[in-house]
Amino acid sequence: MSCEEPYRVLYTERRTPTIIELWLRPAAGALDYLPGEYVLLEDRDHAVPPRSYSIANAPRPDGLISLLVTSVPDGETSSWVHERLRVGEEVSISGPYGTFVDDPTSTTPCLFLTAGSGVAPVRALIEAALSAGADRSLTLIFSARTEADVIDRERFAGWQARHPQFRFIRTLTRAAGPPPRGRIPALLPMLYQDLGDPDVFIAGAPGFVLACATAADGLGAQRARVHTEVFFVEPQPWSGAAPHAEDRG
Ligand SMILES: Cc1cc2nc3c(=O)[nH]c(=O)nc-3n(C[C@H](O)[C@H](O)[C@H](O)COP(=O)(O)OP(=O)(O)OC[C@H]3O[C@@H](n4cnc5c(N)ncnc54)[C@H](O)[C@@H]3O)c2cc1C
Repeated sequence: MSCEEPYRVLYTERRTPTIIELWLRPAAGALDYLPGEYVLLEDRDHAVPPRSYSIANAPRPDGLISLLVTSVPDGETSSWVHERLRVGEEVSISGPYGTFVDDPTSTTPCLFLTAGSGVAPVRALIEAALSAGADRSLTLIFSARTEADVIDRERFAGWQARHPQFRFIRTLTRAAGPPPRGRIPALLPMLYQDLGDPDVFIAGAPGFVLACATAADGLGAQRARVHTEVFFVEPQPWSGAAPHAEDRG
């Protein structure tokens, strides 16, 4: 069941040149959510339009949630987060929403493909699986333009060191650096001959998700096992109308 709750900004951290992480503490009741779900964020005065943001952490006993917000030029809500929202302020969070969730009882290997703030729901899913003690193979391939855009490198390296079933691969698309380099759709056939087995989770911008899903399809991924979270551009203002098809990728 979805509901609306006030949360207070506990702290904010610039994670990459374009992404800010917000940690929010429930000011009243905490939303009950599943790893991979998203919420609508807006200011308490309703001065900015509510926008969808995936929760970037697995549920915690203290109810804290983290959001990774990419700066969008002239974007109303992302500019508010990046330029005006301050620690201690209250925001409104409603939800949770979405279908980008995992079956916690599954033993199927998982492949996560993501870029930018698309890592948010994936981080929540992997954190939940690892803390539940799952021993299924979990592989995260994260695409970034440059090394500076590789969010959470230390966290993922730490998970990899502690959990042999977790593998973290970053690929750079616009800078020199150690391999691998290049976009995920081009990289996948070099890493996998066949994707018939794993669950595949893909999250990020519409073009990214479409390109990765097409590449996974070409490698035999089972459609029912390909899960996508498309960060489509939302209608302005939210009217209940369906977003344009091209925005959905
Ligand atoms: C299910 C879901 C989950 C999402 N999760 C996240 C998340 O975890 N982190 C996150 O940062 N975003 C996420 N988004 C996207 C987010 O909801 C907003 O669309 C985004 O922050 C832009 O909102 P805005 O109000 O700042 O921009 P708007 O005021 O809506 O847009 C301003 C202008 O920028 C264009 N624009 C909007 N978004 C983009 C973009 N991404 N790239 C280029 N141009 C754009 C618009 O077409 C418009 O011209 C998610 C979207 C969905 C549907």
